[in-house]
Amino acid sequence: MGAATFQRNNYLYFVGFFLDRPIEYLKGVGPLRGDLLKKELHIFRVEDLLGHYPFRYIDRTKIFPIRAISEDSQYVQIKGRLIYFDEVGNKFNKRLIAHLRDDTGQIELVWFKGIKWISKRLVTGAEYLVFGKPSVFNGRLNIVHPEEMELISQQSLEKAPGLQPVYPSTEKLKAKGLDSKGILRLVRTVLDELEEKDLPEILPESILRKYRFIPRHEAVRFIHQPPDEKGQQQAVRRLKFEELFISQVRILQVKAGRREHAQGFIFTNINKAFDRFYHHHLKFQLTGAQKKVLKEIRQDVLSGKQMNRLLQGDVGSGKTIVALMTMLMAIDNGYQACLMAPTEILAQQHFRNIKHLLGDLEVKTELLTSAVKGKIRRQVLEELSAGTIHIVAGTHALIENEVQFNNLGLVVIDEQHRFGVAQRAALWEKSEHPPHVLVMTATPIPRTLAMTIYGDLDVSVIDEMPPGRKPVVTRHLFESKRLAMFGFLKEQIAKGRQVYVVYPLIEESEKLDLKNLMEGYESIVRTFPPPQYRVSVLHGQMKAEDKEYEMQRFIKGETHIMVSTTVIEVGVDVPNATVMVIENAERFGLSQLHQLRGRVGRGADQSYCILMSDYKQSQEAKTRLETMVKTNDGFQIAEVDLHMRGPGDIEGTRQSGIMNFKVADIVGDSVILKEARHTAQELLNDDPHLEKPENYPLRAFLSDHQPHKKQWSKIS
Ligand code: ADP
Ligand code: MG
Repeated sequence: MGAATFQRNNYLYFVGFFLDRPIEYLKGVGPLRGDLLKKELHIFRVEDLLGHYPFRYIDRTKIFPIRAISEDSQYVQIKGRLIYFDEVGNKFNKRLIAHLRDDTGQIELVWFKGIKWISKRLVTGAEYLVFGKPSVFNGRLNIVHPEEMELISQQSLEKAPGLQPVYPSTEKLKAKGLDSKGILRLVRTVLDELEEKDLPEILPESILRKYRFIPRHEAVRFIHQPPDEKGQQQAVRRLKFEELFISQVRILQVKAGRREHAQGFIFTNINKAFDRFYHHHLKFQLTGAQKKVLKEIRQDVLSGKQMNRLLQGDVGSGKTIVALMTMLMAIDNGYQACLMAPTEILAQQHFRNIKHLLGDLEVKTELLTSAVKGKIRRQVLEELSAGTIHIVAGTHALIENEVQFNNLGLVVIDEQHRFGVAQRAALWEKSEHPPHVLVMTATPIPRTLAMTIYGDLDVSVIDEMPPGRKPVVTRHLFESKRLAMFGFLKEQIAKGRQVYVVYPLIEESEKLDLKNLMEGYESIVRTFPPPQYRVSVLHGQMKAEDKEYEMQRFIKGETHIMVSTTVIEVGVDVPNATVMVIENAERFGLSQLHQLRGRVGRGADQSYCILMSDYKQSQEAKTRLETMVKTNDGFQIAEVDLHMRGPGDIEGTRQSGIMNFKVADIVGDSVILKEARHTAQELLNDDPHLEKPENYPLRAFLSDHQPHKKQWSKIS
């Protein structure tokens, strides 16, 4: 340990010397801009500034002839003379148009904002270098709000570097002179002073050699000041790897640490509730996949280590049974189990479902959510701490302080990627003997994302649907087909089936959505009048007991149609429902559409999903709807979703703060991610605590660069 400490101090000494300096002390910053840099970009120290990477480069060596530009051109640099410029339009759509000409053609530069400021600075007849993304408007080629526009002087051409970095900035920073160029000036100041020893290598020699990475200090320099395209690519490749590698080492250390330290309860007995349930209460054969997963779980709970397992499976693949049977293992060994769901409705559904599945089995099951109040709540709390309740289903209410278990042996979390690695790690640290944890995802997630969000968990996959399921037939219809669609619903209802009609709910305009829903409800009732037809309605602003009542009517088959917002999205299980109509389907995200579709096709009958939409829709909406029509495979849909939206937008990932990579992109860089994962695993297999001398620098870096501790209790 002594040597490690020494090395660590050594490292700190170097870093502290220069990179640790508060940003306001950097030449050209000062207290005012310093504050802004902290607030706007989280740049606190000089090292953070070096970690503020360009998001693009302008190739100053390439100049496009205007004639060669088309609508499809990406960012281009052009050089031309400003012929004239003019303000056009009235008060409401005023814009500034400048006409630029080179030897090959002419193009318009257009500004909608900052017109005064810009027109004061434009010089007719002068030559400019312009950088931006071309587009076509009214048949004419233009560049709207060029990113760069520079008067050409002899000097600017001489000092022009090959690749000029472009940095992210904000309006407030730009107002204080810290636009991309301003930031570039600061970075240059740092690079001028930067020495090799300021950025010591943290990757072990063997990894550097294997991947032929350039040294760390060089990579950081090159990403800001690329000598050429090759240097820039080498820098990016190394920094991406480094970033993903560090995050994987952390995740794998969490996992290993828990394996090593967290003693797990041992569930040897399965001779009571589990057996009885399996032989007398289970109404169907388990699928091969369910059996396989139960075996994996069984091994975990016999191992003496704490289980941390992710259960993945497409909607309707039968995760609930697996979770329930795991809970029965706990109960047979004298432990309690809890099931935590993200929403009130889902918690209630689980509760009902479990009670139904258990039938007359002597397993006491209760519900605990914030809606459970007064006497009943007190009773539940008492019995939980006395240990007379075996299973409790609930929401986040379950992890509040007032909830005391007698002996909690298993926690099942039914989540939608809502917790990150750090939050989960924090979750059960409070308890001395952490219970086994089984996390179920409601939607499949792509492998690369799973590696990052759930990288600390062991993974089980249910990759087989219960027998007899027919894939849901999905159609996309426009408004003109509405009557035909209603006719189809009548046919289905005549066959004794039930129907969902779902409206979008977007928080910002809850009122509008409710209006939308109620109008839809009225039109449905007009088309499906009583007493022949009965229609339920369900939305988020109803009281819990009214929701419950309506839900029950539909579950019992007393109503034919359920008109609802997305509150029914997760987990609701009515096997007799065979049609899911989604109104304004273009407004839903892919995973939401898939979840909704998963509400039908749960029985043996052929089921249908009908996506209703306007004629007008964005390209992205079109892709989403086409994907839904094309495939029923949740994993495939998840991949498309990830590629369309990027990881930051996948539900829950932003809050959990694990997607904040600076250069890496877990969609585009999945190959590097896999390498990083593999390399990190190898390294830790060889040296679990990073005690070998070649791994000291990495260990020191990890301990000096702890990720911010997040307040996980705020996440819901
Ligand atoms: P999910 O994975 O979406 O949570 P559920 O656990 O809700 O899926 O299961 C969907 C439906 O399939 C339920 O009605 C459940 O009873 C039924 N089911 C689960 N496993 C089987 C099986 N092996 N055979 C037949 N039906 C099954
Ligand atoms: Mg479910």
